[in-house]
Amino acid sequence: VGALLDHASLILSEAGVEEPRLNARLLLSHVLGIQHTVVDTRKRDSVDSEVTGRFMTLIERRRLREPLQYIIGEVEFMGLKFLVNTDVLIPRPETEVLVEKALECLKLPGARPLVLDIGTGSGNIALALGHFRPDIEILAVDISPLALKVAGLNQQTLGVRNVTLRHADILDGFPVGTKFDMIVSNPPYVSNEEFDSLQPEIRMFEPRIATTDEGDGLRYIRRILEISLRHLNPRGAVLIELGQGQSETARDFATSLGLADPCIHPDLSGIPRVLQARKGNAA
Ligand code: GLN
Repeated sequence: VGALLDHASLILSEAGVEEPRLNARLLLSHVLGIQHTVVDTRKRDSVDSEVTGRFMTLIERRRLREPLQYIIGEVEFMGLKFLVNTDVLIPRPETEVLVEKALECLKLPGARPLVLDIGTGSGNIALALGHFRPDIEILAVDISPLALKVAGLNQQTLGVRNVTLRHADILDGFPVGTKFDMIVSNPPYVSNEEFDSLQPEIRMFEPRIATTDEGDGLRYIRRILEISLRHLNPRGAVLIELGQGQSETARDFATSLGLADPCIHPDLSGIPRVLQARKGNAA
């Protein structure tokens, strides 16, 4: 085990993978079916050639910069396990800030609030909200039928009943007629220009439509705020995840559209990350 880890770490570090040793340890523990924290206590154990072969196949994928989460096939978000593949963006810790703030906001009294999640991807935001608040209803939409399939699998695995998944393109007049008490989204906010400088893991493997708007990065943020103005009930809230450097502009959009109390929540690294605003009292 020790020698195999040394060998694999070296391969990953030469390929420019960050934290090569941790990656090697996580992949070996995945193959061995044990907790990664105990791998180091088994350094003297021997492994058969079948295990070595399977492990080295995974190391090769990681060497080619495939994200660890796609190789392992799952990721933890809000303490829940989500299945992921290359049809969906990998849920990120900074998005947990959005979910926490949404949960705080949902503490307000009201009869069975209706929440809209735009661009649900793996379903992480919608299903986490649904899991922690069985007393709300959530409509989760995505433009990608393949993403909706993953979200559907996650819904089954997590046994969350109060989420409805639906195919929709928000640039195409959706959603007609319905009013929501909250709108949440982690939209594709990377600009066309920034996209080329992203890590190879994102650029080469994560779905491009989930990452960039192919424009200035603000297109969907603007659109979601417009939708919020039209489709939120009075006092309803909108929470949108932002990219680094977008908070001032996003807040100005909200203000100029006439949304009330815009504020920005930082993520754990202190980066302004989530825009929150609400519809005023007048309908
Ligand atoms: N809602 C998912 C997430 O937050 C997917 C977002 C997206 O595809 N842009 O990770």
